[in-house]
Amino acid sequence: MMLETVIGLEVHVELNTEHKLFCSCKNRFGDPLNTNRCEICEGLPGAIPVFNEEALIPSVKTALILGCGVEEISRFDRKNYFYPDLPKGYQITQFYRPFAKDGKVYLPKAGKTIRIREVHMEDDAAKIVREGDKTTVDYNRCGVPLNEIVTMPDFRSGEEVTEFLEILRKDLKASGVTDGKMEQGSMRVDVNISVHDEGEEFGTRTEIKNLSSFKATYKAIEAERKRQEEIISAGGLIFQQTLRFDEDKETVEVMRNKENSDDYKYFPEPDLDDVIITEDFISEVRADIPELPSVRSERFVSEYKIREEDAVILCGDDKLADVFEKGAKKTGDPSVCANLLVSFTGETGKVPDAEVLIAVSGLLKEGKISSGMARTLLKELFENGRDPYEYIREKDFLMITDDGAIEEAVLQVLGEEENKKAVRDYLQGKDKVLGFLVGKVMKKLKGRADPEKTRKILTDNLVRRD
Ligand code: ADP
Ligand code: MG
Ligand code: ZN
Repeated sequence: MMLETVIGLEVHVELNTEHKLFCSCKNRFGDPLNTNRCEICEGLPGAIPVFNEEALIPSVKTALILGCGVEEISRFDRKNYFYPDLPKGYQITQFYRPFAKDGKVYLPKAGKTIRIREVHMEDDAAKIVREGDKTTVDYNRCGVPLNEIVTMPDFRSGEEVTEFLEILRKDLKASGVTDGKMEQGSMRVDVNISVHDEGEEFGTRTEIKNLSSFKATYKAIEAERKRQEEIISAGGLIFQQTLRFDEDKETVEVMRNKENSDDYKYFPEPDLDDVIITEDFISEVRADIPELPSVRSERFVSEYKIREEDAVILCGDDKLADVFEKGAKKTGDPSVCANLLVSFTGETGKVPDAEVLIAVSGLLKEGKISSGMARTLLKELFENGRDPYEYIREKDFLMITDDGAIEEAVLQVLGEEENKKAVRDYLQGKDKVLGFLVGKVMKKLKGRADPEKTRKILTDNLVRRD
């Protein structure tokens, strides 16, 4: 039996608006509990919701970013269920007529396209805060505008899901749809997952609710995939259930048997008008979307011929991508700039000034410093904020290219007792120890020796001793 995993996602994205979706309460994370609430978002009898058109800008952006068609007329419906975080007794969502349909997202690493079934608007539920044995409901989140993105069941692995979510988060964040702060719940993922024998029909799916980090999403997929594979391999059955992922135990638990849409008794929301989105409005929103990180990284690969994975890292942060682009243009040496920046941000999590990057890569290109020195210099300059040229003059921070000085250090290293074994090993044909000896010479010269010259002088001297 060749088992295949099938995954479809429902991603909830909190929209970056001033106000909630149907009232004028502030949409703001982190305020004291229950300070942003009113009779509308609390669902008091007789309170009438009013659609906040502010939410249309990020919503239409989401649709366009995902390549969806935007519906001229869409509509809200009531999804009825009972839960303490839902004071109205229903959620206002777009069930029958979502505002956006039929999009797609390309995943360069996986080399495949994920189809988007729809995007709809809805209001968020309140947040249940558990502390010890005390439970509080925070209505600040109740009524916060959401976009729910529903994909087709096109994923075949957790890696594909991670790639999709990373692209989604970067693109939505860069265009201002959401702040993308996973830890604050700005993006929450429901995973639908099934396993089937390849060549047969898709299996019965389970749904893991409310995953709030990419890591948890990946781990939940792995845990549930394994669970289903074991059951199916043993000839058992999967039941359509809603699951919860326990991050500490890394296991899934059953929350409830899956409800059907019938259970929600959906009906059109009588208190709200149709949502009308005009062509002019769509054009305006489209003009306001910047070059997306996913598009920009593809451009970096084709225009500057840098590695895909570097381009993705650089475009993960607007400022970093801008610094790279300035540096690449000015120095004419994109891959040097990419290497320096990727290792710098990898180590420090910071972004250097373009001028500093340009100066350092210039010195590297002129052969005044080695690439190891360039990395060190970039960090030192970032920390002390000094002028690059002044700093290297003052610190005598230049590469040692003088053969005599290098040879002197080489002879010292070769003569030292602790290196005798390495020398013997090398002479007996173990080429690998050369790196070790180069390192020793480098250390003597405080990392500033020209690596190529060092290597050459070292091998010359080693041969001569034969
Ligand atoms: P429901 O209406 O019950 O929520 P949907 O048809 O809306 O079901 O699908 C919800 C999600 O489940 C979508 O993301 C879809 O891609 C995914 N999905 C549908 N069928 C399967 C399946 N057999 N295996 C995995 N995911 C699936
Ligand atoms: Mg659904
Ligand atoms: Zn309110």
